[in-house]
Amino acid sequence: MKSRKYIALILALIALVFFLIPTKKSAKSYITNEGKIHGTYYHVTYLHPDGVDLKDEIEAEMRCFEKSLSVFDTASIISKINRNEVVITDSLFDVMYNEAFAISELSGGAFDITVAPLVNVWGFGFRSSQFPSDEQIDSILSFVGYQKITLSNHIVYKDDARTMLDAGAIAKGFSVDIIAQLLSRNGCSDFLVEIGGEVVCKGKNPKGLSWSVGISKPEDNPLPTNDVQQVLQITDMAMATSGNYRQFYYRDGKKYSHTIDPRTGYPVDHNLLSATIVARSCMRADALATACMVLGVKDALNLCENDTSIDGYFIYSDGDSLKTIFSSGFEQYLKK
Ligand code: ADP
Ligand code: MG
Repeated sequence: MKSRKYIALILALIALVFFLIPTKKSAKSYITNEGKIHGTYYHVTYLHPDGVDLKDEIEAEMRCFEKSLSVFDTASIISKINRNEVVITDSLFDVMYNEAFAISELSGGAFDITVAPLVNVWGFGFRSSQFPSDEQIDSILSFVGYQKITLSNHIVYKDDARTMLDAGAIAKGFSVDIIAQLLSRNGCSDFLVEIGGEVVCKGKNPKGLSWSVGISKPEDNPLPTNDVQQVLQITDMAMATSGNYRQFYYRDGKKYSHTIDPRTGYPVDHNLLSATIVARSCMRADALATACMVLGVKDALNLCENDTSIDGYFIYSDGDSLKTIFSSGFEQYLKK
């Protein structure tokens, strides 16, 4: 009888020890890191196989990225190129440059990183300026154009020394890809990386389902709102949205948005309010979302239909009402 009591006591103690020692389960919960970067906010949620918090590595990678591609960092490679200093580019710059060139070709010049002087003169860039005259725009156009620069052996050559670069419509998406690669290298296969609305999702969310991400309603508001137009379910894909409802100003009753048509020199002015692109890389999705904002609804939709590796969802105004249209492959991402 006594020995039975002892056995019961020992079993209870073993159970208690198991209860108190943290099991592997707690090491396998999702980790979320968030903060400020690239003039906006980032959120990263991931399941690390050993429960390791990668925040320091993530932020170090983002800061390293800025040393190459941020026009707001005066010591960055892109800033040195803009000041015509002799500089050897790094692999981040080269990858961005080659993709930017490809998207310029694909979009017939609607996307163009040499748009920088126009972005500045319209008051959206890294240099401020007075409201420009038509003559000023004409003269700036003479040194804007992706065919007026070349990259050879890690050196950027300009036809005109006044040409400047702005990676603002491609860098955020690229940075998301870089963080996604960092997580994969560290053994994570379930994660969501988001920087300023550009997203990469892989594997499953903490509920074991596909990740859900929302497309904002295009309401004029400089701050992100919770008003969602459409929820998407995406896995192992990237998504980026470009819109004219966050960065804009009014002058004499007319709205000026931060997306500039590099072919005309003027901010775009049509009924397309937001363009969301789903693609394999976030860099591509980011650049194409801006390209689509320049192209307008019809040409943007054509661009997506002609390339099976990308899909687009567009919100446009039709009189007083908001309408949406999307490419045929986009249906699969719409959460019912
Ligand atoms: P967001 O920053 O809201 O994601 P975008 O990805 O569309 O918006 O990037 C807009 C920025 O890209 C502008 O602020 C400007 O720096 C730059 N830009 C504007 N027009 C173009 C263009 N046609 N091609 C390439 N970059 C552009
Ligand atoms: Mg963008």
